[in-house]
Amino acid sequence: MLTSVPIPKNHPRAQSLFVREKLVEAFRKGVVVPEGLIAHGRGEAFDYILGEKTTDFARKAVRTAAAALILAKKPVISVNGNVAALASDKVIELSKVAGAAIEINLFYRTTKREVAIAKVLRNAGAGQILGVGENASSRIAEMLSERRRVDPEGILTADVVLVPLEDGDRTEALRKLGKTVIAIDLNPLSRTSLNASISIVDNVTRTLPLLTDGVKSLKGKKNIRKIAEDFNNQANLREAFAYLAKRLDKLSRGANDV
Ligand code: ATP
Repeated sequence: MLTSVPIPKNHPRAQSLFVREKLVEAFRKGVVVPEGLIAHGRGEAFDYILGEKTTDFARKAVRTAAAALILAKKPVISVNGNVAALASDKVIELSKVAGAAIEINLFYRTTKREVAIAKVLRNAGAGQILGVGENASSRIAEMLSERRRVDPEGILTADVVLVPLEDGDRTEALRKLGKTVIAIDLNPLSRTSLNASISIVDNVTRTLPLLTDGVKSLKGKKNIRKIAEDFNNQANLREAFAYLAKRLDKLSRGANDV
């Protein structure tokens, strides 16, 4: 069941309202937790300030992430409830193009929720889904939350892990284990963004298709390793802070849009 109040197509925030309805529906199905709705709100706020578009610094991070996925021996895409609700089809497309496994990993983990998320992914066309039930049989010792439970076939042995909408603890733990962590997070100030190897400060729904295109266009090119090595995540995050400051400054001087 979607909203009981129809969203007029010409509503200035129609897209945003539609996305909210999608999440609320996923919440009713047990895919998204109430905390996930709040996390979405934090993301929306940053998206507003970013101008709801993919910036140049995000594109640079996407290109680097595409290079890292191509160079990976064992890439894994970590999926939580919000990601499944918002972008299952896009996750599957990227997993196919990048040869990456899909693993469910949840902060609020219950078997019922894992199964509900796996169903959403399967309905969108996913093949093998790691991290469900007893398959998440390994533990990351550095972590306390349920996020520590991982699949030995997936995140535990992966060299590159894509973590859209992550919590900072796990990003830090995965980095300590020597993994390359690619984060997608609209908040450049989050511990996730600050600690990831490659932080893509953008909306997951915009990023995933760009990442898929990036992998497609870079595959087979000679300069892939150079693209990955030349990237400086801290410098790129500084560009994000400068962009936000500049945009707000221009708006504060009366610019209509920047
Ligand atoms: P950290 O633990 O890394 O400091 P946090 O406490 O904000 O971060 P969560 O509570 O897991 O971590 O929040 C998830 C993050 O996902 C938020 O920072 C939010 O900005 C971001 N987010 C929410 N929706 C989206 C989206 N659609 N695309 C990208 N990022 C999003």
